[in-house]
Amino acid sequence: DDPPDWEQDAAGEALTATVVMAGAGGGAAGEFDYLVPDQLADPRNPETRAEPGRRVLVPFGRGDRRLSAYCVAVGVKPRGARRLKSLLEVLDPAPLISESMLRLARWMAEYYLTPLGQVLETVLPAGVRGAAGTREVTLLSVPTAVAARLTRLELPEKQRRALESLAASTKPLSPPQLAKLADCTTAPINALRKKGLVESRVERLDTAQADELLAPTVERQQPKQLNKDQAHTLATILAALEAPQSQTVLIHGVTGSGKTEVYIQAIERVVGFGRQAIVLVPEISLTPQTVGRFRERFDHIAVLHSHQSDVERHRQWRRIAAGEIQVVVGARSAVFAPTPHLGLIVIDEEHETSFKQDTAPRYHAREVARRRAEAARAPLVLSSATPSLEAWVRADGPDPDALLASMPRRVGGLPMPDVRTIDLVQEAHGRGGRGAISRPLSQAIHASLEDRGQVILLLNRRGFSTHVRCPSCGYLLECPHCETALTFHRDTNVALCHWCDYREPPPRICPDCKSAGVNYHGLGTQKLEAEVRARFPSANVLRMDTDTMRSPGSHERALDAFRRGEVQVLLGTQMIAKGLDFPNVTLVGVINADSALHWPDFRASERTFQLVTQVAGRTGRGERGGRVMVQTFEPGHPAIAAAVRHDYAAFAAGELPEREALGYPPYGSVVRMIARGENAKLVEALLAKAADTIRRHGEEFDAMGPAHALRVIGPAPAPLEKLRGEYRFHLLVRSRDGAALHRVMQRVAAELEAPDGVRWVVDVDPVDM
Ligand code: ADP
Ligand code: ZN
Ligand code: ZN
Repeated sequence: DDPPDWEQDAAGEALTATVVMAGAGGGAAGEFDYLVPDQLADPRNPETRAEPGRRVLVPFGRGDRRLSAYCVAVGVKPRGARRLKSLLEVLDPAPLISESMLRLARWMAEYYLTPLGQVLETVLPAGVRGAAGTREVTLLSVPTAVAARLTRLELPEKQRRALESLAASTKPLSPPQLAKLADCTTAPINALRKKGLVESRVERLDTAQADELLAPTVERQQPKQLNKDQAHTLATILAALEAPQSQTVLIHGVTGSGKTEVYIQAIERVVGFGRQAIVLVPEISLTPQTVGRFRERFDHIAVLHSHQSDVERHRQWRRIAAGEIQVVVGARSAVFAPTPHLGLIVIDEEHETSFKQDTAPRYHAREVARRRAEAARAPLVLSSATPSLEAWVRADGPDPDALLASMPRRVGGLPMPDVRTIDLVQEAHGRGGRGAISRPLSQAIHASLEDRGQVILLLNRRGFSTHVRCPSCGYLLECPHCETALTFHRDTNVALCHWCDYREPPPRICPDCKSAGVNYHGLGTQKLEAEVRARFPSANVLRMDTDTMRSPGSHERALDAFRRGEVQVLLGTQMIAKGLDFPNVTLVGVINADSALHWPDFRASERTFQLVTQVAGRTGRGERGGRVMVQTFEPGHPAIAAAVRHDYAAFAAGELPEREALGYPPYGSVVRMIARGENAKLVEALLAKAADTIRRHGEEFDAMGPAHALRVIGPAPAPLEKLRGEYRFHLLVRSRDGAALHRVMQRVAAELEAPDGVRWVVDVDPVDM
């Protein structure tokens, strides 16, 4: 099957396919054109037709290198001087992705500076690409014309038997099935196929016919009678459903204000129109409880999460694509669910950093969802007790397509938990021991346990370890240039700034109060656990962090044990602060609110506010009320003070001017470059070169004034400086002109060449440093 020799017909036009190489492309970035040979353009063979959204096999470069590629466009081009190679094969019997999702992928590739072929491998789960759990089966049948003259055909005995058996069958049969039925080998069957007496087609069938009946049945729940705030929020969403273009509705409501109930009712409307909804939730809150809430209200839901097998995911994917599903509930990547008539996208806990993917393409589900909603002219609903400032500024501003709905009260008049701070500076003077738990917190834990209540203790994931802090007066060692806390490194005995690389030896004596014993010792969850066990020997203690929660399902099991009351004290990192609902929790203690506050991240205050507010939402859900104690050296810090008062608006009002002054999001854009490798010098040198390149390309925008200028910060060691034996450095570039920043980074990314052993990535709109 040689490809047609098109050059002999130089006058005409040729059918061409534009492709991108699958994955990172084996060094072949960009788009390439190939000729589509006649046999891959034949409408009578739809399974082998080249069209956008299918994978194809192409020859690439010299020699006989063959790559798998995605066809992204098919068109007609004049047979010109350019010598094109031909597609070799069409790999998928049908497109894997619709044209509109392909457009979305193109946007992602462009915006997140990632090859389209790599974006497509993210948009399409591996199980879908590999058609996991299905097998191609050839199915035979007898054409009606043949059946009509069956008795008049002259055929050898075995062929006749096979043909008659097939004609008598009520359904198509595979060759082995027919051979068995007609008691022959496949040879006579092949002879029949050759003669055109038997038709064949290829189908993909489930190998594991997964069973819907195995899903637990749940009792159906009726919609709740909404209160005034809820009714107003629902009305806002319903109005957005009527709007001719996509609108974003931010539901800002305290935990327990009934946000979920509202968007479920909005989805009921959407489903009533025969459309589908996608609900994104953080992976960690994708619990049976959450899913159960949707099962109670909808007949056909699909759940997508990262622990799913390829087979299961592929099956869900096909059901969604076939329009059998009303609501897709899933983590970040569910934003790519192939719903045919998308009517609404909801992002619950919108502020969560897990909506940003931390490998290429480093997309943010909120931004992708917005693009998708716009294309579908569907509303995007964001829900949070602590919205990202990006979402807040948009909704609170003049944009008519960004609406804000506030729900400041808990359902049923439940009070907000009582939050108070414990000033660690004051405590230091009256304190005997040196533990992590202050006296007031310790007393409160005792009281709660005596009262048969449960306790949650939260230790910030970053630990105490990194800062240099005087326990007597609260003095914190900061960078003289960047106003961020310096980080202590035990191995080199140095305190360093993770933005500008400033370094100094850590002081022995407090520069402020002159007391000795400046503290730069770490505290991890293990140490905290030991302290809690020692102080409260009769309590059952459970530690939850990434170390103890490695195996799949361990998180679920731990929370179940806590819910059943088998555990009295649950301690752990951020993962316990997320969307959990425990009526018996009467006390939440935040061990170290400050370490979030001084992490080298321009969102440090925002993260601290979110953390304290979210964890406070874990208590007081039941009738017993609850309180929250926040240990801090800086009770007066605006982020902590606002969290204590449950006052998001005050936090935003205090924080936004600082962001605006420096041109940080939401008033400007940030791109982060991270490089890593075993040789620290090479890694740093690469980023130094990148910084120069950025400055050089940025000059034209710098000349346009401060509204367009670029600012490079760093390079410096990344906050997580050493990871799996590699050194990491980073730099940050910011500009008030996001488009200018983007243009420059595009050029830099194209130009920058890393030496062997050094790898680098560009993170557009980074959320977590
Ligand atoms: P949020 O999403 O804001 O945390 P939920 O929607 O989960 O709030 O509601 C909190 C609790 O109140 C849930 O148990 C929910 O079933 C219940 N609830 C919500 N709305 C109402 C209502 N209008 N009437 C009675 N109970 C409600
Ligand atoms: Zn001091
Ligand atoms: Zn600095």
